[in-house]
Amino acid sequence: MSIPSYPYYLANRAVHANTDLAVEDKHSGEVAYRVAKADADALEQAIAAAERAAAPMAALPSHKRRDVLLHCVERFKARRDELAEVLVVEGGKVIKDARGEVQRLIETFQIAAEESTRVGGEVLPMDIAERTERWMGMTKKVPIGPVSLITPFNFPYNLVAHKVAPAIAAGCPFVLKPADKTPVGALLIGEILAECDLPEGAFSILPLDVEDAAPLTEDERLKLLSFTGSDKVGWMLKSKAGKKPVVMELGGNAACLVDADADLDDAVDRLVFGAFYQSGQSCISVQRVQVHESIYDELKARLVEKVTALKGGDPRDPETFIGPLITEQDAERVMDWIREATDQGAELLVGGERQGRIVTPAVLEKVGRECKLYNQEVFGPVMVLEPFSDFDAALETINDSRYGLQAGLFVRDIGKIRKAWDRLDVGGVIINDVPSFRVDHMPYGGVKDSGLGREGIKYAIEDMTEIRLLAIRGI
Ligand code: NAD
Repeated sequence: MSIPSYPYYLANRAVHANTDLAVEDKHSGEVAYRVAKADADALEQAIAAAERAAAPMAALPSHKRRDVLLHCVERFKARRDELAEVLVVEGGKVIKDARGEVQRLIETFQIAAEESTRVGGEVLPMDIAERTERWMGMTKKVPIGPVSLITPFNFPYNLVAHKVAPAIAAGCPFVLKPADKTPVGALLIGEILAECDLPEGAFSILPLDVEDAAPLTEDERLKLLSFTGSDKVGWMLKSKAGKKPVVMELGGNAACLVDADADLDDAVDRLVFGAFYQSGQSCISVQRVQVHESIYDELKARLVEKVTALKGGDPRDPETFIGPLITEQDAERVMDWIREATDQGAELLVGGERQGRIVTPAVLEKVGRECKLYNQEVFGPVMVLEPFSDFDAALETINDSRYGLQAGLFVRDIGKIRKAWDRLDVGGVIINDVPSFRVDHMPYGGVKDSGLGREGIKYAIEDMTEIRLLAIRGI
């Protein structure tokens, strides 16, 4: 059977290059797709074309930008099953998660279509001093110019959508480098964008070796770097970005708290989802769980029972909950981290076995704070339980992390909710659910090592536009 191959997109056009990248089926390990690979020369052409496209993109009326985004929405809907299949293959996502991500791709573009017509400004009160009483002041938002976008492997559509859709809504040409483990999702978005009547150079989507990618960070013709990925790479790139503003959406080791009066069945259901969907490969996956001591044993028993029943295996099987990790090395790294914790006295309550890329979902307790499972981002199906007695101290424990993306709390007391919102050093506090909650219009991002700035369409548009003032004397 011939292997499907995908072109890259340079200045809106499909390019079938001489060199290509093999993309594995993450379940079988076999080559499933071939993807044209771009090089430094293609990147230079893309940046030059994006610079030329800046003025025509800025001049594109908002109803045309909206229509481009709506065209994408319709095409995603029409190709829903095919798009989900690609996620199962290149991402190893179980089919339910894959369908869920395609739905979010649709919603994210839909939200961007709506926001594209609301990129407005304000009228300023100029009579704040006698000398300016007769002045008039107004602002509008203008696109920042060509933007540089870099995305990770774990949501090949939706994290691309969170950069591409606001760029179109704002009127910014873009050059995107998708993750080399899962580049096909971004290229399918490119295929659909190429059907639209965008100014030439409005978009380029280039699978690139990182050795060739430096201009995405350093070239001054690109006016913003929006990066989603690991904190290690993100902060390194920020240090090289020069005058360019950066948005950094990085990793985390998210915490969840279950208070004494929580609905236990509901909390257990949500914890299982939050820690183990996508085999834990989400930046807001539940990793550290604080449980009130009065319900600790009961919650632990119910959790272990539920986790034991989770089925791992072929992501195409609708019964499968736990699919493969992205590489076998990642699966082995997760196993190493579990071993490090158990060697130092942690108890493994369930799971923690490996077969190829699949790691059975693991729940541990008594994990030392110095262990990687506790203080680094595991990015795999592992949850660490810890009892607490004092709510304030538990909040401090949650804050005792170099990361701060989101935290989830199952609490009912309004005073505690308020306290958590005030004190938790994170980008978002989620009540009655896990930190893994995200809906695509909300501000999303982290503090500390988890990043800088917010995504969520409206917030990304803010970063991709600049305020331009108009002040008129004597009206
Ligand atoms: P990664 O940092 O290894 O790679 C991210 C992207 O950066 C990829 O496209 C990669 O090829 C590219 N890259 C790597 N080195 C580069 C360089 N020197 N120059 C230019 N580009 C370079 O991350 P990953 O393994 O793909 O994704 C997992 C990480 O992403 C996790 O840490 C996860 O928490 C994080 N993440 C964060 C969010 C968020 O919104 N905060 C969302 C998803 C994933």
